[in-house]
Amino acid sequence: MTFLMTNMVPQAPDCNRIVWKDLESYERQLALEGNEVYIFAGPYGSGGIGDKGLFYEIPVKTKSGEIQKMNVPEFTWKILLVMPEGDDDFFRTDSYQTIAVCVPNKQGVHKEGDWTSYVCSIDDLESKLGYDFFELLPDEIENRLESSIYTSR
Ligand code: MN
Repeated sequence: MTFLMTNMVPQAPDCNRIVWKDLESYERQLALEGNEVYIFAGPYGSGGIGDKGLFYEIPVKTKSGEIQKMNVPEFTWKILLVMPEGDDDFFRTDSYQTIAVCVPNKQGVHKEGDWTSYVCSIDDLESKLGYDFFELLPDEIENRLESSIYTSR
């Protein structure tokens, strides 16, 4: 399912190959250090600056040869839910840590800092996206996780 067009987002090369890639390396590190990492990611807004300039959409050819337009997002966001390896994930919320980022989809994005420069709260993402993450958790835990902003690496 990972390689379907419906699961792909056009990302500026500097965003994809530097900032996003570094975050993916960190996710791998967390997993190798004995954590489970749940990852949520997606696009937000319209208008990204790639190596050919600003685009709001790009043409994409479907399997049947039809040309369709694909949105180029202004940001790509990600939420990591991290916990030490174990069982019954839903019942050990005390060990949960979350990391949320919202990265501008543009060339040169790495010059303003690595992925830690783009951390935000899940509350920020929820108000931008209109999604409600972790809605099945008790409100007290949901509120704690969603209002926090990740600070240390
Ligand atoms: Mn929520």
